[in-house]
Amino acid sequence: QPIFLSSEKHLNNTAIVDTQGSFSYADILHHSMCLAVEILGLHGAVQEMKLNGERIALLTDRDVTYVIGQYATWICNGISVPLCESHPPSEWEYFLKDAECSLLLVADTLAEKIILVAQAAGIKVKVISRKDFGTYEKNRWFQADHATNPRQVRKVFQERKQRWFDRMEEFVMKKSALIVYTSGTTGRPKGVVLTHGNLSAMVSGMIKNWEWTSNDAILHILPLHHVHGIANVLLTPLACGAACIMEPKFDAHRVWSLLTSPAVEHFDRSINLFMAVPTIYAKLIQYYDEHIVKSKAAIVSEFVRQTTSSKIRLMVSGSAALPQPIHERWAEITGHVLLERYGMTETGMILSNPLHGTRVPGAVGTPMPNVEVRISKPNIYSPLGYDIIAEGNSRHTVVTQGLEDDQGELLVRGPSVFKEYWKKPEATEESFTKDGWFKTGDTAKFSNGVYSIVGRTSVDVIKSGGYKISALHVEQKLLSHPEIVDVAVVGLADVTWGQKVAAVVVLKPGYTLELKDLREWAADHLPPYQIPTKLLCVDSIPRNVMGKVNKKELVTQLFPESA
Ligand code: ATP
Ligand code: MG
Repeated sequence: QPIFLSSEKHLNNTAIVDTQGSFSYADILHHSMCLAVEILGLHGAVQEMKLNGERIALLTDRDVTYVIGQYATWICNGISVPLCESHPPSEWEYFLKDAECSLLLVADTLAEKIILVAQAAGIKVKVISRKDFGTYEKNRWFQADHATNPRQVRKVFQERKQRWFDRMEEFVMKKSALIVYTSGTTGRPKGVVLTHGNLSAMVSGMIKNWEWTSNDAILHILPLHHVHGIANVLLTPLACGAACIMEPKFDAHRVWSLLTSPAVEHFDRSINLFMAVPTIYAKLIQYYDEHIVKSKAAIVSEFVRQTTSSKIRLMVSGSAALPQPIHERWAEITGHVLLERYGMTETGMILSNPLHGTRVPGAVGTPMPNVEVRISKPNIYSPLGYDIIAEGNSRHTVVTQGLEDDQGELLVRGPSVFKEYWKKPEATEESFTKDGWFKTGDTAKFSNGVYSIVGRTSVDVIKSGGYKISALHVEQKLLSHPEIVDVAVVGLADVTWGQKVAAVVVLKPGYTLELKDLREWAADHLPPYQIPTKLLCVDSIPRNVMGKVNKKELVTQLFPESA
C-alpha cells in the first residue's frame, strides 16, 4: 500500500506536531484532499480526478504544510519535487526547469522570492497557507450531490474519498512519487525518480529493522529535500501511525530541551527517536560543552544523561561517515551509542548497525531487510563484467575465497532501488550492471561480520604507490589529534606515487600545525603509506546542508595545480 493511503489505518493518532499545533492522520488526509482538488482544478483535471504524472514542486517550512503539499500531490497522481528553502534562486530555477514542473506549491511564508523565479520560468504558482486548511466543507467539489448540511457533506466526502482511493490503489504503486535531487557531492545534483513502490519498500525496511511502532515519536530537524529527511524521518513514522515532531529551524538549545523534556508542546508525550547527520551531532556536542555543561555543571549533565538515555530508544546517524570522536562524546553525554547506517537517494537505506547487539564504530553493520548487496571487482573476462568479493542480505553474507582484494564497489538490488535518473537515460543505464544491480559508486569491505564504507570510489579511495588508502579512515585517525577539529583528506596527482595523501584541517582556535609535526604524530596512528605528505590549515571546510564535502571542488579550489 502506498504510504499516504495507509493514513486510513491510524485516523485518530497524532501524525504531525509543529510549533503551531498538532494534526491527526484524519486531519492530514482531509487537508490534503482539499488541496488535491484545487491542484486538479489548476490543471483542468477535476473530472478525471487524476493528473498524468505532472511534476509539482514543493517549498515549505519544516512543518505540516510540507506533508499536506506532498500528500495532495500524490492524491492527484502528481510527482512531488521538494525544494530547499536555503537554496539560492539560481538553484531553484535549475530544479524547476530540470524537472519541468507544471506547478509550484509554496508556503505563504516563503513565497516572495521564489514566485519571481517560477513566473520567469513560466510555472504556475499556488500559495498554500495553513490558515486555509480545514475548509473542505466550503470546497464546491465536496458539495456535489446537493449535500448541504455538514453531516451530509462529510458523508459525500467519505464516499468520494473511498471511490477515489479504491481506484488509486490499483495503479499507484508503480507510479513515480518523487523526484529527489542527490546532494551534489560529486557533480551537479541528479534527479532521482522514486516510485510509490520504492518508498514503501524503503519505509517498510526501516520499520522492520528499527522496530518502529505507532507509539514512537521522532524529532525532525533535517532538510526536507533529501531522502534522509523525507523517507527516514517523515514517511516512516507516517507509514506506521507514529508521530513526527517538526522543528522549523535547527537550534541546538531547542533540540536539547526537546530531547530531554518529558512532554512536547501540543503533544502529551515525549520524543523517543532522533535521527541526524554527523555535523548536527557535532553542533549539539559543541553547544553542550560550551553552554549546558558549564551552566550548572554536574547536575545538568547528569540530568541530560538520565533523561535522554531513559526515554529515547534510538538515535541514528547517517548521510556521511560518523567521526569517532563524535560517536564517543555523544555516548558520554547521553548514554546512547549512535546507530550508524549507510544509504543513498537512489536506494534508501542499504546497511545498518543493529538495533540490538553491538554497534561497531566505523562500520555500518549489515544489509537492511529488502536489500541485497554485493562487493564487486571489475573483471572484463567475467560474463557479469565483475567478480563477486562478497554477497549478502539481512540474514547472512558469503565471502568468495581466494580473491586477493577484499574491497570493491558496493552493488545493491531490491524493491527500494530507484526507477531512473530523471531525463538521463544514459546515466541510468551506466549506473546498473549488466545483470541489473545498482552501482553505488562507493567502495566497501566486509570483515568480522560487518560491512564498512571505505569511501566514494572516485575521490575517497586514494591510490598511492600500489596501495589503496581510504580517505575516510585517515580522516578518522587525524580527528583524534588533540588540536584538529575538522578534516578532509584528498588524493592529489603525483608523478612518482600516482596519488599522494593531502590533509585539509581546521585547528582549534589559536593553534598552528606544521606538516613535520603532523607526520611525527601520525607515525603512531597510521601505517607509513597513509600518512599525509601535504597539509593545509584552513578556517573551515565547506560542507553542504547534509554536512558533506564536495572533494572535487575542494581540490580545485585549494590545490588548483592538481585538479
Ligand atoms: P551526488 O550523488 O550528487 O554526488 P551524494 O551521493 O552525496 O551526491 P546522496 O544520495 O544524498 O548524494 O548521498 C549518498 C552518499 O552518501 C553515499 O553514496 C555515500 O557516499 C554517503 N554516505 C551515506 N551514509 C554514509 C555513511 N554512514 N558513511 C559513509 N558515507 C555515507
Ligand atoms: Mg551519489
